[in-house]
Amino acid sequence: MDIFPEATNAEETLDPPDWADVGALSHRILDDAIAYLEDVRDRPVWREMPAEVRSFFSAPLPRSPAPAADVYDDVARNLMPYPMGNIHPRFWSWYMGSSNFTGALGDFLAAIQGSNLGGGNHAAALMDSQVVNWMKEMVGFPVSASGTLVSGGSMANIIGLTVARNVKAGVDVRERGVGAMPKPLRYYASDQVHSCHRKAVEALGLGNQALRRIQTDAGLRIDIAALKAAIAEDRETGFRPACVIGTAGTVNTGAVDDLQALASVAAEEDLWFHVDGCIGALIAIAPENRSLVAGIEQADSIALDPHKWLHAPFEAGCALVRDASQHRNTFAVTPEYLESTPRGLASGEWLHDYGLQTSRGFRALKIWMALKEHGVEKFGRLIDQNIAQARHLTRLIEAEPALELMAPTTINIVCFRHRLDGASEERLKAFNTEIMLRLQEEGTAALSDTTVQGRHCLRVAIANHRTRRSDLDLLVTEMLRLGREIEAAIPV
Ligand SMILES: *Cc1c(COP(=O)(O)O)cnc(C)c1O
Repeated sequence: MDIFPEATNAEETLDPPDWADVGALSHRILDDAIAYLEDVRDRPVWREMPAEVRSFFSAPLPRSPAPAADVYDDVARNLMPYPMGNIHPRFWSWYMGSSNFTGALGDFLAAIQGSNLGGGNHAAALMDSQVVNWMKEMVGFPVSASGTLVSGGSMANIIGLTVARNVKAGVDVRERGVGAMPKPLRYYASDQVHSCHRKAVEALGLGNQALRRIQTDAGLRIDIAALKAAIAEDRETGFRPACVIGTAGTVNTGAVDDLQALASVAAEEDLWFHVDGCIGALIAIAPENRSLVAGIEQADSIALDPHKWLHAPFEAGCALVRDASQHRNTFAVTPEYLESTPRGLASGEWLHDYGLQTSRGFRALKIWMALKEHGVEKFGRLIDQNIAQARHLTRLIEAEPALELMAPTTINIVCFRHRLDGASEERLKAFNTEIMLRLQEEGTAALSDTTVQGRHCLRVAIANHRTRRSDLDLLVTEMLRLGREIEAAIPV
């Protein structure tokens, strides 16, 4: 008896009719990808998209099929030539890593294997936990700590700040909400704190005012005396000081807060100690500079970013929490459709109990493969190399009368500007912005800009394993040339 009769209509699938065709196209894509990285230095860092490329991306929803080779040709023509540029050796804007080929293969294989890292009993889940364990080891966290891979530093910070809120709320905040808290919570960070913390306290229902920005010293590090005064003031006025956020590498200037002093303040004041180490936590693996982040191992939670100084392809962030049960108690929920079984696929711990996502991508593989290939020591040396390059650029700036350093260089971020005799701050900003835009438009280098202690400046952040010192020499030469050109073109 046939209980499953043959389908009368042909059933569809997304698999190709002929895997051999797919092989030929895939090999072509792979060869192109290798050539793309091999030649990256010879292409402009960035280029403006022509009108036909822009309009290509307003084409309507495709309704009928197209050969995969044609689809790839569209990508090769309209997408690949116009990247953001952060894989280029002279990309130093904002703050991000420069990716790596092995990591890209990891992303490909993760998609092929296709596992969902919400959890379950399978190899990808073990690898996910292993990578978290490696991150703990890198920053000196105990084996008993927990962690989770997330999209990036912003999510990693939200994880840490959420655990802090729930531990310090004074009520069962999961059940009763922030409205039931006996006193409003206060979080503290320097006035250089990354903007994602504002989003975090807002999303946590605490409100932006719950995050007190503490003044910084001449090195743009949190002023410890001012922090203590703010905590005392808040206690007197009916707030509950809950959490201090130390930044290991601020996004503006790369300043590293005194993490040991912050750990002491947190211990004395009974505060949660969170470290935003999106930039600098991994300096802990860099032999020449690791003392800069001493104290990070005392944190209650740490946010770090493998897609920055480990150069993992986007996205990869990581949150670590010293007390695994506090971490799990903040997020774990077991609905009836996700109960564990004693054996089989649903046995073991669910990884989604450590964060907000249910389905989770297989982010671990790209990190795992690159770490296995190169070893953690090489990543540490690359961090030292970027810091040495930033010091090299700092020396070039100090030796060049037309340029002016605008903040102390601590790690791999250099803030500086081109001088313009007698010009107002406003004109200096316009002049330096023009230099920055020309550098981008000519495809020479990508810098970004910011304002430090009220003064506009250009900013070079070297989290790039392809940068060489000669690239920085070229930057200075080109800036001086552009400075002369622009100054001549727009007289005062
Ligand atoms: C980059 C960064 C973040 C945000 O991380 P994303 O990975 O961009 O989400 C937070 N804090 C600091 C200090 C950063 O540099």
